[in-house]
Amino acid sequence: MKIVILDGYTENPGDLSWAGFEALGKLTVHDRTPADKIVERIGDAEAVITNKTPITAETLAACPNIKYIGVLATGYNVVDSAAAKERGIPICNIPTYGTEAVAQFAIALLLEICHHIGAHSEAVRSGSWETSEDWCFWDYPLIELANKTIGIIGFGRIGQATGRIAKVLGMNVLAYDEHQSNEGQTIGQYVPLDELLAKSDVISLHCPLFPSTQGIINRESIAKMKDGVIIINTSRGPLIVEQDLADALNSGKVYAAAVDVVSKEPIESVNPLLKAKNCIITPHIAWAPKESRARLMDIAVNNLRAFIDGNPTNVVNR
Ligand code: NAD
Repeated sequence: MKIVILDGYTENPGDLSWAGFEALGKLTVHDRTPADKIVERIGDAEAVITNKTPITAETLAACPNIKYIGVLATGYNVVDSAAAKERGIPICNIPTYGTEAVAQFAIALLLEICHHIGAHSEAVRSGSWETSEDWCFWDYPLIELANKTIGIIGFGRIGQATGRIAKVLGMNVLAYDEHQSNEGQTIGQYVPLDELLAKSDVISLHCPLFPSTQGIINRESIAKMKDGVIIINTSRGPLIVEQDLADALNSGKVYAAAVDVVSKEPIESVNPLLKAKNCIITPHIAWAPKESRARLMDIAVNNLRAFIDGNPTNVVNR
């Protein structure tokens, strides 16, 4: 079986091995594939693996040998799933691999806002401590989280994992979710969205991007929040109306925000969050510790093996 990986670099920049795929067929790996090279590079391959490179209906028509599409991610909207289904091509995704990594990162963003460890370390290196009049100094307000309230919007796998860590830090955990679970109830208290907005000192987003969640953080919802609230987004950029958040940061209504995802990625120079006050932006890395990518690799290989064995698994377009 010919296997082509169209954009393998972010999954494996060189610290993991593609051997699992190599054992299943004749493998070609591309770090990235520009739009005008997609059809040529797929050629007569039967298995196509993509992360963010789109596979359109036209591509499927131009590459009739494709029998399997594997996505190196949970979200599979880069593939025209209806067109693939029409052709009887299964799309297999990675339903879960990075729950703990993303939860850890959400809390890391929050702790950075509370302590600005990187900036303080830089200040020491640049001589500010040597010349300090006092035995210690700090350049930003330092924040203790114990007894503060975190409101988690979307209390699924990552939301609950984040809630568990927040609880260990002594925080009260509120949660808003369309579906409540027994497990969730042991971690936090489910409340209506407006109550969560009104009572939380920190709001962390963990719901998927749906039409119902797009822009859930906007001028109106921010107005319902406490003055000086902190907002964390490790889920999807379009959950936030970025101009509204930038305005609220600049006015001080929102004390600080930290986002790992933005509406258009890679970020555009016109993104209003780039110039907003007290806003930390990271380049969509919450998922990416090596441990998490290794888990993703194993599941991706197992998906293809299961397909070859005639028992496809993690099929999203049955
Ligand atoms: P999950 O499906 O386990 O949990 C999502 C939860 O959101 C569910 O409990 C669901 O009921 C809830 N939900 C759905 N619609 C809602 C709504 N309208 N209002 C409130 N809650 C709603 O998913 P997960 O594994 O916890 O992942 C959550 C999100 O994290 C993903 O959708 C993805 O966008 C994001 N993510 C980001 C990264 C990263 O690197 N930054 C990595 C992985 C996942």
